[in-house]
Amino acid sequence: MITLKTSVFDLKMELIQNFINGQHISSDSSESLDIYEPATGEIYGQLRDSNANDIDHAVRSAKTAFALWSDLTVHERAVHLNNIAKGIEKRLDEFAEIESRDTGKPIALSRSLDIPRSVLNFKFFAEHGENFEFNYDLNNETSQNHINRSPLGVVACISPWNLPLYLFTWKIAPALITGNTVIAKPSELAPYTAYMLGKVCQEVGLPPGVLNIVNGMGSTCGELLVKHKEIKAISFTGGTSTGKLISQSASKTFKKLSLEMGGKNPAIIFEDCNYELMLENILRASFSNQGQICLCSSRLLIERTIYEKFKNDFSLKVSELLIGDPLKTETQFGSISSKGHFDKVVSYIDMVKEEGGKIIAGGKSVKLEGRCSNGWFIEPTLVDGLSPSSRLNQEEIFGPVVTLQSFETESEAIDLANNTDYGLSATVWTKDLEKGQRVSKKIDAGVIWVNCWLLRDLRTPFGGMKNSGLGREGGDDAIKFFTEQKNICIPV
Ligand code: NAD
Repeated sequence: MITLKTSVFDLKMELIQNFINGQHISSDSSESLDIYEPATGEIYGQLRDSNANDIDHAVRSAKTAFALWSDLTVHERAVHLNNIAKGIEKRLDEFAEIESRDTGKPIALSRSLDIPRSVLNFKFFAEHGENFEFNYDLNNETSQNHINRSPLGVVACISPWNLPLYLFTWKIAPALITGNTVIAKPSELAPYTAYMLGKVCQEVGLPPGVLNIVNGMGSTCGELLVKHKEIKAISFTGGTSTGKLISQSASKTFKKLSLEMGGKNPAIIFEDCNYELMLENILRASFSNQGQICLCSSRLLIERTIYEKFKNDFSLKVSELLIGDPLKTETQFGSISSKGHFDKVVSYIDMVKEEGGKIIAGGKSVKLEGRCSNGWFIEPTLVDGLSPSSRLNQEEIFGPVVTLQSFETESEAIDLANNTDYGLSATVWTKDLEKGQRVSKKIDAGVIWVNCWLLRDLRTPFGGMKNSGLGREGGDDAIKFFTEQKNICIPV
């Protein structure tokens, strides 16, 4: 039984507007984009593909607001951030329903992960900013050096569709606490909770122009942000090929860049692991949000001695996942987030045979009854028998397709783990914590979890190596990214 608030039904065919200078306003552009509910395949809204006039308007508004906002104390800005957090928290259920509707993710996940984490992002950076040393002195016999950090000015935050509000706010909160004003662009595929965030900012009295939200395609609206000479930094999360384009474009105006990109994350499963704990967590790590989390494990590397047992046990667990309407609370596995992405994932499944692999679980698209009969659903899929160099083991699929490979020795496991161009995250499963540490040190990835997955302390550096990222987010790293240092030297 689905219980939806009237407000969610009211979303039908709403036009998502830009949020500029504290107001939701119409775009100057006449180019419109449809917004789909992926679980039903139906259009429920539209947005405009913002043009250069819209972006200039947002930049003017952010520049004007910068004078006031950067002049506030960190504490005064923290009060605003905490008010935004409370504003989202007050409407948590509504936000969660809309996030689920926009992306096809199970509502249980948006209620327990996406929206609570978005609230926490504001609360965390409010507190972290207040505790951060923005100024310090280094003195010696000849000079006094006063070092201080100041905001950059107007900055842009560009985020993807998989964890829409979670990743949007993860960038916005540190940018704001440090005194910058922001132009943020959500994914054109899942823009609705960003639109609601604008409403919350209005409700809680965030000064106009401090946060501006623009909508549109990456290749138009996103590119305009990246090229704009008044924008001082770009914090981007998305695909590696987009990151490459952004890096090329941004270099022309010497912008600061933080790039969080794709992954092909290994899970190394040793014979001596806590088997039941590992099995539960590998299921979550592989198929949460239908495998559409950049940190999901997509390559399972299993010690040869337990390979067959793991294969059988894991296949069974995977086949028991409840696929269904994302808006039903019992659903464990929802839809793929867009038709384009559905086609991409299917194309990789179609490749399995010619790549020499075998599907051992799932592998088919799913036709549900009723409301979701035209939705974009794919079974959680396991593949084995592929060579490490196959496309399925090398390329980011970013969906519910996970490969299994076996290894004999620790060094073989490490070689397999490092055998891609990506280096975002990894997990290691063993009761021998010395081995866990030893192996982790040799893995080229920015985040390594031993006997756990997605356990986050927001103070820790977050980001990838190789083609997965440039720079780190979280804690002090985010504060440093959004500020510029100055040394004032006075002789003694
Ligand atoms: P994407 O790169 O297509 O889009 C991400 C954002 O960038 C969107 O807002 C899009 O409109 C914008 N964009 C696209 N082209 C642009 C351009 N030329 N200039 C400026 N902006 C542009 O990615 P996606 O499909 O939305 O998201 C999936 C990808 O995101 C996957 O590769 C996934 O691994 C990655 N991701 C990484 C992390 C991380 O923390 N490393 C987290 C989540 C997702």
